[in-house]
Amino acid sequence: MHLKSLTLKGFKSFASSTTLRFEPGITCVVGPNGSGKSNVLDALAWVMGEQGAKALRGGKMEDVIFAGTAGRQPLGRAEVTLTVDNSDGALPIDYTEVSITRRMFRDGASEYEINGNSCRLLDIQELLSDSGIGREMHVIVGQGQLADILQAKPEERRAFVEEAAGVLKHRKRKEKALRKLDAMQANLTRLTDLTAELR
Ligand code: ATP
Repeated sequence: MHLKSLTLKGFKSFASSTTLRFEPGITCVVGPNGSGKSNVLDALAWVMGEQGAKALRGGKMEDVIFAGTAGRQPLGRAEVTLTVDNSDGALPIDYTEVSITRRMFRDGASEYEINGNSCRLLDIQELLSDSGIGREMHVIVGQGQLADILQAKPEERRAFVEEAAGVLKHRKRKEKALRKLDAMQANLTRLTDLTAELR
């Protein structure tokens, strides 16, 4: 599986529709300071389901919509489409090419599509979650993040490794299941007490 292309339309500094095509192997994005290199990575994180404005280097989610410049009016919506080559079947969907689209309007409304069909954010997150490129995976290493990892306490570093290895997802599921089990145990105790009272 590899990323084939990324199309940005009204996303941050990319007011006009812009498509970046990626070949297999390493891609470098080169440009002067402030020209939008990091915005490309933000678009990638956003289309894969990022929900935190801070992770997208903004104050609020609407900050991803083109805010206008001296010569150009602000836009009403941002749209990003990521196309992935799935000929190896890494994504659990019956298509050799998968396009994921995320759209957001100024009133906060959002739309999501998989291969042009409307879907929920959850569908995108689930599609990507077992492929290693999901939202919770550390596939995007931001500026300064490497230093954070090197300076992290051993237990924090372990959390990074667990997340990258996909263990964290199962740990969270286990914690949720244990909480449910506790609640069930409490219900059972209450039921036993009530039965005893009724006898
Ligand atoms: P550096 O090399 O300094 O890290 P960069 O190439 O990574 O820079 P970015 O941080 O991607 O640059 O882009 C910053 C530019 O994007 C700024 O000029 C900023 O004004 C512009 N920008 C960010 N959000 C928006 C928005 N919503 N609307 C319009 N422009 C935006």
